[in-house]
Amino acid sequence: MKRTHTCGELRPEHLGQEVCLQGWVRFSRDHGGVLFFDLADAYGITQLVYDPEDVDDGVDKEALLGIVHTFSRESVVSVNGLVRERVPGTEDDRNATGRVEVLITDAELLNHSRAPPFELGDQKEFLLPGEDMRLRYRYLDLRRTEMASALRFRHRFVSLARRFLEEEGFVEVETPMLCRSTPEGARDFLVPSRVHPGSFYALPQSPQLFKQMLMVGGLDRYYQLARCFRDEDSRADRQPEFTQLDLEMSFVDRDDIIRAIEGMMAYIWKGLYGVELQTPFPHISFAEAMSRYGSDKPDLRFGLPLVDVTDIVRDAPYEIFQRILAKEGVIVGVNVKSSLAGAEGVGRNEIDRLIAWAKKQGMGGMTWMRATADGLDSNIVKYFTPEVIASLRQSMDAEEGDLLLFLAGPQKRVLEAGGLLRQKLAEDLGLIPENSFQFLWLVDCPMFEKDAVTGRLDAFHHPFVRPCGDLESSQMGGESYDLVLNGVELGSGSLRNHDPEVQRRIFRLLGMSDEKIEEDFGFFLEALSYGAPPHGGIALGIDRVISILLGKESIREVIAFPKNKKAQSLVDGSPRKVEDEKLSELQIMSVAFDDLDLEDLE
Ligand code: ASP
Repeated sequence: MKRTHTCGELRPEHLGQEVCLQGWVRFSRDHGGVLFFDLADAYGITQLVYDPEDVDDGVDKEALLGIVHTFSRESVVSVNGLVRERVPGTEDDRNATGRVEVLITDAELLNHSRAPPFELGDQKEFLLPGEDMRLRYRYLDLRRTEMASALRFRHRFVSLARRFLEEEGFVEVETPMLCRSTPEGARDFLVPSRVHPGSFYALPQSPQLFKQMLMVGGLDRYYQLARCFRDEDSRADRQPEFTQLDLEMSFVDRDDIIRAIEGMMAYIWKGLYGVELQTPFPHISFAEAMSRYGSDKPDLRFGLPLVDVTDIVRDAPYEIFQRILAKEGVIVGVNVKSSLAGAEGVGRNEIDRLIAWAKKQGMGGMTWMRATADGLDSNIVKYFTPEVIASLRQSMDAEEGDLLLFLAGPQKRVLEAGGLLRQKLAEDLGLIPENSFQFLWLVDCPMFEKDAVTGRLDAFHHPFVRPCGDLESSQMGGESYDLVLNGVELGSGSLRNHDPEVQRRIFRLLGMSDEKIEEDFGFFLEALSYGAPPHGGIALGIDRVISILLGKESIREVIAFPKNKKAQSLVDGSPRKVEDEKLSELQIMSVAFDDLDLEDLE
């Protein structure tokens, strides 16, 4: 038997047709000798019915019953049957095939299945098991409509991106997986060489140096769906391997690259949603993002800007502020407009909860005031002159009923806490619109940042960013641009240093000795010295953008076989110890470690 239709295809227009369907038996139920099955495949679910009253006399009902009795959950079956209407009142309009069912006239069990460890239906009443269990049996989890449609969506996104880039003349080139390490700021995964004992390749943290060398090679417009590997300590939503849409262009300026990405996003949007994406995306400088939104990846789907009121309250005899000002701290406010807070406004209990929250963020506390018809009300307003009050009201755009919250302390901490406070208020007050996508470009980032502990300069992005301005100044900016969507950084890009001397000076500023530069990057500087064209590029995190577009909590929900939070691949039980024989071939010795115990999950 060969299938004539998928399980998502049959409609009333097929009534009376003989069909063959194949798929997995998701649910079965027995209504007094009439057996119902939900048959599922990648395209949908169709109801099958074994009804001895209704099948033709020519059919051996006993034999057929014997076969359908073997249809256990998730077994793979093939059935022939007749498309008929469902009994009136039992139609299921949530399901595209829900007006019809297939009366089984012949059946075959194609493969048995062990009882699945969790329900694969998408009905709300079936609680999903813990994530590790889903990952252990990912191949079953993938049968769930939600997972299957996430992967299909991802495929559509990527294929639209490819189509756009190809139409724009980009060439897809694969760069090596076994290479010398590239410094993107994380630890490398190392691969031992058997042929060169004691030597290691690294898995690429990104194709950065190779894509730049492709530009030296005259490729001009390159892209790749690049798998990148970074051995970072597990953080909530990081994967040790992830996918970037990586691209690089020659003879371009920053706006050319920005326009290429905006064009690609608009093309993808059209293809996915049939709507025009508003371009160009707004640009916001790093300095403004930090001071107004307390974040280098601000979420502009809601307002609640931070306002620095340090200068306004500087002379007020309020002791807490004075203490902080004496230590060169800042005072930053947020206006929670009464119109945002709903009819009740933000009440006392809620304010107390916010203050407790601020303390948890490491802030000494949080001060608040309520705007009245023409002044401000709180137990500290007595410290402020009418002029200061008027000025606070004006700078924070305060109107009657608005709640003004203030954080005070060292600038970096206050801005960061202010950014988190914005986010918290937006969530608590339900200010984040669903299905809205707010892109922006973060520009004018610094080239370097100082390590708070060692005082050493680190690259803000990576060392290959072209500086703008005075190379000798540690305040120097870089020609970089980060793409941010809904408060998440999708990726960063920059113009690069095609002049090897500029590149060498940046390495020196980062504290590298000439010997170290030669050892780590000699090959790359040499490549630049053979007529590297001016070039630049960007890389976008595919897992992230897909998870945002689908509203998923985690990128693991849009990766077929992700690692769990402990960087383990539960479906194949890796990482794993290897036989001593394999290690000795590599001339490696390993100290024992515990194997991942898959039985624990069962
Ligand atoms: N290689 C960079 C990264 O992975 C992106 C780029 O500058 O193109 O973040």
